[in-house]
Amino acid sequence: MTPFAWANARNLTEGASAASITVAEAMTAAPDVMPRGQPSIVMAGGIDLLDLLKENLLTPATILSLKDIPGLGRIVEEDGGGVLIGPMVTLAQLADHPVLRQRYPAFTDAAQSSASPQIRNVATLGGNLLQRPRCWYFRAAEYHCSRKGGNHCFAMFGENQYHAIFDNMPCAIVHPSTSATTLVALGARIELTNAQGTVRNLLLEDFFVLPSKDIRRENDLKPQEILTSISLPSVPPGTRMAHLKQGEKDSFDWPLADVAVVLDVAPDGSCDRASIVLGAAAPAPHRARAAEAMLAGKHIDANLAKSAAHAGLDGATPLAKNAYKLPLFETLIQRAILKAIA
Ligand SMILES: Cc1cc2nc3c(=O)[nH]c(=O)nc-3n(C[C@H](O)[C@H](O)[C@H](O)COP(=O)(O)OP(=O)(O)OC[C@H]3O[C@@H](n4cnc5c(N)ncnc54)[C@H](O)[C@@H]3O)c2cc1C
Ligand code: SF4
Repeated sequence: MTPFAWANARNLTEGASAASITVAEAMTAAPDVMPRGQPSIVMAGGIDLLDLLKENLLTPATILSLKDIPGLGRIVEEDGGGVLIGPMVTLAQLADHPVLRQRYPAFTDAAQSSASPQIRNVATLGGNLLQRPRCWYFRAAEYHCSRKGGNHCFAMFGENQYHAIFDNMPCAIVHPSTSATTLVALGARIELTNAQGTVRNLLLEDFFVLPSKDIRRENDLKPQEILTSISLPSVPPGTRMAHLKQGEKDSFDWPLADVAVVLDVAPDGSCDRASIVLGAAAPAPHRARAAEAMLAGKHIDANLAKSAAHAGLDGATPLAKNAYKLPLFETLIQRAILKAIA
């Protein structure tokens, strides 16, 4: 690991100023020409950042921790029924929060199913949304792939069993955040604040960037900008939701597949609107729009859930080693719909 200076940011201006370059930009230079001694980077819990430092994939001159900035660790119930969450709230705090558990059980289940208890005690929601992908070629310094500024995707014809089945050209990462799957299904918004104090507020869904647009970054974070809140909208009566995750093992791991379903159920029992999002399926949380359309306006039963689950795979382009994800997702979508309406 390359030595770096360490400090705690005391306020938002210091924190945003410290993010002199995005981590994605800092990692795109070739390893042998990485500008050493220049970038300063912000850190939350450090789970993902320290991995990158240990592999020498990232060599910042300075790291500023966001943990002392007032207000970033709060969970606030808002007028109108929504909830505002600071980016420094840990996954463990989310999973245990009684109001979040009661209003957004799919979200707290997703937080609870991520990683291990020790990691959840440290990992923050902000860091979770902004963690870099798990593609093993990306994580290994020996492979200078396209996402790191090279000109080759090693996964495309290599070991791609954990990779994307949608939107997987010219890079087949899956987005690593399990929380993001449910937050997109719930219609969460985020707030970003830059060093000048300018605030951007946008749908989380619109924050993610597909490789067809820019292969070097997963999101639209700008230099000198930090994530300052995540807002969950109110849930009207009749809202039903579920999140299911399937991994290789039950103890701790990123998912092979995860699915979030949010349904607005009318008083007559029909589904007004469905939001179905697949995680570990694409470089960004993936809306299964054909499945959503199939449920809208109908009374949901087991047969309809099965047909919608099948439609949810429309447009999939599996790679040589990940076609097993098709039946896996189909089963998870069907079960998540039925769990939501149970
Ligand atoms: C064994 C293991 C299993 C795991 N399983 C899962 C899983 O199932 N699901 C899942 O989703 N994750 C999983 N993870 C990943 C883990 O949840 C993330 O690494 C963690 O949430 C990152 O949060 P952090 O606070 O440590 O972020 P950090 O490592 O501190 O930061 C991550 C990135 O975000 C940036 N950053 C952080 N906060 C801000 C901010 N407010 N504004 C701007 N930039 C910011 C940092 O600069 C850095 O680039 C697993 C990790 C491990 C080690
Ligand atoms: S899938 Fe993306 S991150 Fe992985 S090797 Fe290919 S270009 Fe690199």
